[in-house]
Amino acid sequence: LERTLLRAAHRHSRAALVFLDLDGFKAVNDRLGHAAGDTVLQTMADRLRAGTRSSDLVARIGGDEFTVLVQDLARADDAALVARGLLERMAEGVTLDDEELSLSASAGISVFPEDGSDALTLMRHADLAMYRAKQEGKNDYRFFITVMSERARERMALLDGMRAALERDEFEIVYQPIVRREGGVSLEALLRWRHPELGLIAPESFIAQAEESGLILPIGSRVLKAATRFAATSLPPGVRVVVNLSSREFLQPGIVGEVEEALRTSGLSASRLELDLSESTVMTGNAEVKERLLRLRGLGIELALDDFGTGFFSISHIRELSFCRLKVDRSLVAGLPDHVEHAMQVEAILVLARSLGVEAIAEGVETVAERDFLEERGCAGVQGYLVSPPLDTEDALAFLEGRGAG
Ligand code: C2E
Ligand code: MG
Repeated sequence: LERTLLRAAHRHSRAALVFLDLDGFKAVNDRLGHAAGDTVLQTMADRLRAGTRSSDLVARIGGDEFTVLVQDLARADDAALVARGLLERMAEGVTLDDEELSLSASAGISVFPEDGSDALTLMRHADLAMYRAKQEGKNDYRFFITVMSERARERMALLDGMRAALERDEFEIVYQPIVRREGGVSLEALLRWRHPELGLIAPESFIAQAEESGLILPIGSRVLKAATRFAATSLPPGVRVVVNLSSREFLQPGIVGEVEEALRTSGLSASRLELDLSESTVMTGNAEVKERLLRLRGLGIELALDDFGTGFFSISHIRELSFCRLKVDRSLVAGLPDHVEHAMQVEAILVLARSLGVEAIAEGVETVAERDFLEERGCAGVQGYLVSPPLDTEDALAFLEGRGAG
């Protein structure tokens, strides 16, 4: 493959990589045995060889996956002709012990140089295109370029949607309680997008894109303003509000000023605001990050390390960077205490938190067993469906009232 690419680059010609994967091969193996499976693979290999020129390369790279390297293509579209021809041959029935099997294959195509300039990239891209062909109905081919432009289109649509959502004010905040063992409650502000057609959308589906495009900045600044305003006007003085800051927001130079501004305009005292930062955001622990964290802490805001236990955070940084608490990631909480590995890790994190003098909070607590395990080991508070799902403002206030929090 590498030699072919080199030559193609030299001659300014194209080459295409066609990944072919049999549809339904596993069933043949399972039902008729491996000898029958071998015969099918040999038959398919013969057909592939018969359907290609002698200068092309046919290979079986594993299982029921074949690769065809087509050389000296005049146009990228010619690869489609080759792929279609091969798929037709492969879809012809195979007769085995008087039984007529109907099999087919799915193909993914990547073209040199458009879809990649090296062997590894081209293989990855052909594989991705093949996967898409499988997903979308089998016995067909997809070009990597089409797969990519579909993605690009989806991305564009999402971005347009978010811009419109900002204009139309479609972003909302729900509040999820965090309940302390000794009774205190804080509320974490969690973003929701009320899409006119799709209904309520959780951040997983759009936060990454919002980060990448920078749209998280206007969106996040709204969250900050709305959450501080809600806390100042509606929450009892003993209840703190928690706001998540993504790395893009935290690393933006004006962030400390923006937080100060939100506190000033809302009239919320700094001690009632907590900021959630993820491990990856502060991981570098460089001087600038440190300085910014200290300034925020200096305002009197509490800082929490979110999703703790999923990254490679250096323990020595926790106190040095002035964190007040760490939030044990919900992936580690799941299945306690029976999940032995999680149990060990969580136990270690709780010991660590205690020895560093920071508070530990657990996220995603869904069962009594999980909560008991955590609280018996000194976890200061829990958040999760066991206590309460995220709530709209009205329900959040009712929740606080019900608990007599304030
Ligand atoms: P996070 O800060 O770790 O928030 C906790 C997430 O866990 C929330 O998901 C919450 O709904 C979910 N959760 C709570 N209890 C349970 C439970 O018992 N089981 C399970 N399986 N999940 C539970 P959500 O609201 O979808 O938020 C996801 C992430 O999006 C948040 O993770 C946070 O990192 C980010 N995010 C949310 N709102 C904002 C925002 O306003 N700004 C920024 N920058 N990020 C936000
Ligand atoms: Mg959080």
